Amino acid sequence: EQQARVAGWTGPGVTRDGVPVKLLANVADGPSARSAAESPVQGVGLFRTELCFLDRTEEPSAQEQADIYAQVLEPFAGTGHVVVRTLDAGSDKPVAFATLEDEENPALGVRGLRLALGNPGLLHRQLDGIAEAARRTGAETWVMAPMVATLAEAEDFCGQVRERGLKAGVMVEVPSVALLADRFLDVVDFLSIGTNDLTQYVMAADRLATDLAHLTDPWQPAVLHLVARAAEAGRRAGKPVGVCGEAAADPLLAVALTGMGITSLSMAGAAVRAVGAQLAAVDMDTCRRAADAVLEASDPLAARDAVRRLLD
Ligand code: PEP
Ligand code: MG
Repeated sequence: EQQARVAGWTGPGVTRDGVPVKLLANVADGPSARSAAESPVQGVGLFRTELCFLDRTEEPSAQEQADIYAQVLEPFAGTGHVVVRTLDAGSDKPVAFATLEDEENPALGVRGLRLALGNPGLLHRQLDGIAEAARRTGAETWVMAPMVATLAEAEDFCGQVRERGLKAGVMVEVPSVALLADRFLDVVDFLSIGTNDLTQYVMAADRLATDLAHLTDPWQPAVLHLVARAAEAGRRAGKPVGVCGEAAADPLLAVALTGMGITSLSMAGAAVRAVGAQLAAVDMDTCRRAADAVLEASDPLAARDAVRRLLD
């Protein structure tokens, strides 16, 4: 019965009682964007641009970048927005032409937006490429930066994006952004919570360390408190706050995130039907009770059990 419900779900994302939650795809390149556009998603919540360049030793020109980004934007022109993330090179995603060598602690080093510190042209050329692709395809294009930590970084980044006529946001991956979410929302058009890195930095546990999987679990109550804080700030500001980490692909957690007021969930295309079918089966009151339950739980196991009980 459950399987039939999942297979039969055709979107859009909405709770049983009609509260909309945008369900979006995480994509890496033109082919994955084209296949996502065939699935019942309402757009792209995370285009990881660094994945286009993992094998490059030289920076592609703005023109070549525009050609690549246009392949991702084109399938969604006229149907949904696409959130393009600027290069998140460094740490677990080294890109030869951008990543600094020999850092002691790459996860805490010069990665993501921080690369623009020593190489501002890298960001300018990428933003030029994105703006050109947006113009060429006519797709609704939002641009966000990874690994933002300060208000000054957000202001500077959003200014550069808006100069090019596009919507600007930042990721919530460093806990400082969640803690000051209200003030970041004065600066940005939207926030997108990357639960993979947010969990790594809240729990001080390497996301790649398999021995630490009990810590790198987005169901950790401390992580979910920061997610809820950002969602509440978004509601007050009337601006979108989505989740684009792996947490968004977990149907049970999606129920609690919806109850917190998260406005979109972005995930691998393969997960969309299960999440959509789960949300369609619950009303917002149950989602809110799930949110309360996970915030009160003392550990991930208790949090999962509490949501399961509510849905039974
Ligand atoms: C995240 O950190 O949750 C995220 C979505 O970004 P990435 O997994 O690419 O680091
Ligand atoms: Mg990340």
